[in-house]
Amino acid sequence: MKKFNKDWHLAHVMPKNASLEQRIAWHLEHHENCGCRPIPPKLLIEINKIQPGK
Ligand SMILES: [Zn+2]
Repeated sequence: MKKFNKDWHLAHVMPKNASLEQRIAWHLEHHENCGCRPIPPKLLIEINKIQPGK
């Protein structure tokens, strides 16, 4: 069972019309702090364009 970090989510609310950069930053931080959902594959592709190999 993946862990849901409620405190992190309360402190990090995704803006309604977040930019791609904001979404990437959010998901990377989310991945470090909470395991309730994976990074969407489409976003992972964008992340790899910015940070090859990560
Ligand atoms: Zn989460």
